[in-house]
Amino acid sequence: MKYLITRFINTLLGFLLIYSSLSFKPINPKNDIIHSELSENFESTFFNKKNISDGPYIFYEDDEILVKWIHNNRLKEKVIRKDNFKVIKRKFGFDFDPNWMEYNYTDNINYAQNYSDVENLIAVSDVHGQYNLLIKLLKNHQVIDKDFNWIFGKGHLVVLGDIFDRGEQVTEILWLIYKLEQQAKESGGMVHVILGNHELMVLNNDLRYVHEKYAKSAELMSTSYDQLYSENSFLGKWLRKKPVLVKINDMLFVHAGVSPKLVTNQLTMPQINDLFANKIIGKSKIDILADPTLSLLRGKEGPVWYRGFLIDPKLTEPEVNELLKYFNTKHIIVGHTSIPNIVSYYNRKIIGIDSSIKYGDNGEILIFKNNEFYRGTTNGTLIKL
Ligand code: ZN
Repeated sequence: MKYLITRFINTLLGFLLIYSSLSFKPINPKNDIIHSELSENFESTFFNKKNISDGPYIFYEDDEILVKWIHNNRLKEKVIRKDNFKVIKRKFGFDFDPNWMEYNYTDNINYAQNYSDVENLIAVSDVHGQYNLLIKLLKNHQVIDKDFNWIFGKGHLVVLGDIFDRGEQVTEILWLIYKLEQQAKESGGMVHVILGNHELMVLNNDLRYVHEKYAKSAELMSTSYDQLYSENSFLGKWLRKKPVLVKINDMLFVHAGVSPKLVTNQLTMPQINDLFANKIIGKSKIDILADPTLSLLRGKEGPVWYRGFLIDPKLTEPEVNELLKYFNTKHIIVGHTSIPNIVSYYNRKIIGIDSSIKYGDNGEILIFKNNEFYRGTTNGTLIKL
């Protein structure tokens, strides 16, 4: 079954990439264009240059499965019965295993998120739809091969939030990471997807940063973008089970940070993950704000927004030590605040890894191996942190 899953996702990715390359040429940012110019040109000419293709989006509807996608600005859809996956194969040209849908359905949520004895780890953050750069980083650091398959063995890959928004290849990244998650499991490795503020924003219908391609895509499907990741959607179900805090060895991974205020309520890591999954993700803002604990968790002192490690007013080292003690860890790894490269603060007690991948031209990944931390650059070089 696992083989079929992998094969299905591979074919699906191929299908998606063919669409991308045929009708939707991603802008290839050149180093000689400064970021502000790039974004102005990019926004103003987007729909003059190309038709959009996007998807697939897969939805559960009672006994049926609805597959929707956009091809050259046109909505395509197909309803299939859950026991008739051969139709998908005929229509789309890819293999489909019914167990694949069930698999996602029955996957239990692990709120504890505590892993030990991990020898090789790579972490990337804030990719914001920059698929090509993500591929480059993962390939150049031997996480994936030329066909985008997992070759990282028993290694752990951490995707530290903010896959969504800004960029124009979010869907491709989500399907790639889903595939790698399955392939990693088969190799004894693991992929951890940790939710950032932009996942929270999209799932809670705050669509301020959604790229216009996706606004158009949702419009063509006569829905709003957040509904493409509803509880009835395949990727939505998958994302809603993801944690905000993950501990691996003596490293705590969190998209933005943990604040002294957050720990005053004495919530444990599993409790915080539980509250996010069941009381915050996809829930109404009014209900969240009415509850002081939920309000704290989702706010600027909470794990997906806090900036006190990197931006003034910064924490003092004794305050950082208290946080490390509270979470029984030695390092806290964060993204969220963009910096030119991966940086250590407070003598590697805090490591900031949002290396501005969102601009699309350069970025870094954090590498942990032989008990050392390294900055992994775009071209595959390692620099000791
Ligand atoms: Zn963020």
